[in-house]
Amino acid sequence: MSTKCIDIGFVEEKSNWLLHPRFFPSKVGGKPAWLDLKNIPNPTELFCKKCNDPLTFLCQVYAPYEDSNNCFHRTIFLFICRNSSCCQTNLTDNFLVLRCQLPRKNEYYSFEPYEENENENFPMDKWAKLCNLCGLKAPSHCSKCKKIFYCSRKHQIMDWQKGHKDICNDTQKVNEYSSNCFVVTEAGKSILFKEWELLVDEEDEEEAGNIDPNQEMEKLNKMMEEKKAGTMSNISESELEQYAGTLPEDKVFSKFTKRIARHPDQVLRYDRGGIPLWITGNTENSLINIPNCQYCNSERQFEFQIMPQLLNFLNVGIEFNSIDWGVLAIYTCKASCDAGPVYKEEFLIKQDLTK
Ligand SMILES: [Zn+2]
Ligand SMILES: [Zn+2]
Ligand SMILES: [Zn+2]
Ligand SMILES: [Zn+2]
Repeated sequence: MSTKCIDIGFVEEKSNWLLHPRFFPSKVGGKPAWLDLKNIPNPTELFCKKCNDPLTFLCQVYAPYEDSNNCFHRTIFLFICRNSSCCQTNLTDNFLVLRCQLPRKNEYYSFEPYEENENENFPMDKWAKLCNLCGLKAPSHCSKCKKIFYCSRKHQIMDWQKGHKDICNDTQKVNEYSSNCFVVTEAGKSILFKEWELLVDEEDEEEAGNIDPNQEMEKLNKMMEEKKAGTMSNISESELEQYAGTLPEDKVFSKFTKRIARHPDQVLRYDRGGIPLWITGNTENSLINIPNCQYCNSERQFEFQIMPQLLNFLNVGIEFNSIDWGVLAIYTCKASCDAGPVYKEEFLIKQDLTK
């Protein structure tokens, strides 16, 4: 058995400006903090394969390859379709994973880290126009002020109704928005997930080995009572007990609950080259073929997984409630290659808790 330390991630409230691209954040919700600021994918590349709606930014993980100059900065982005009807058991058509990387010396960011100064002059709009609402690439603009940009007519109308019509004539306010296109607007709040910083730290191994299984089920139940969303709270307690009662049949689920009980609020597990912590043994993941990188043909390896607990922090409205997953396991090109587009598509497996 491996005793290797893995990293786990938690969400924490953070001011929007501290999650700006120049700080290379790992984050959840809000607008994507793009890494390469010029070669941002077109909105058409970010459409849901099921319903064709634009995808919504879910989270990003800043994960450089320390020993590679080309990956001095490296971020993995996750997008999801907001329509819960696109969410299907163990299928990933409503997701998109993108990888982007930059050398330390690049045209966008300084060689040395930025100081935490809110008023730093960092004009992102000189590289690409981004949607005032969702932060995706924006091919169209407000025809009146010509300074606020949109990915789609839908978002333009929403923004007009929820605030832009009141400031369109106010040159100063329009300039503020156009020079800082990373701010989440009122209209943006209605379609984006709640914004959080994603803090990643070593998993504390202290308690490993002396966990009382009853106690850990209790902790997990408590966690599920407190939080209203997420895969595991969609299952009633009696169902869960029944499920737990099937142990040791589903040893994988038992291992899963035991491992996460140490840190019930974890939303991410990062273990590059490792093995995902699956939520159930009822799907035969060993049979799933992980395709090689479509750009360089290298093997892909497991990099990190998003946990169902993240659903508890997205703060989504009623229409989101049935967006769901057990674990999202992200696989990326082992070579983290530079071939292909600047934002490269990677692979994910969604495993749901099914009997
Ligand atoms: Zn969809
Ligand atoms: Zn938009
Ligand atoms: Zn306008
Ligand atoms: Zn590759």
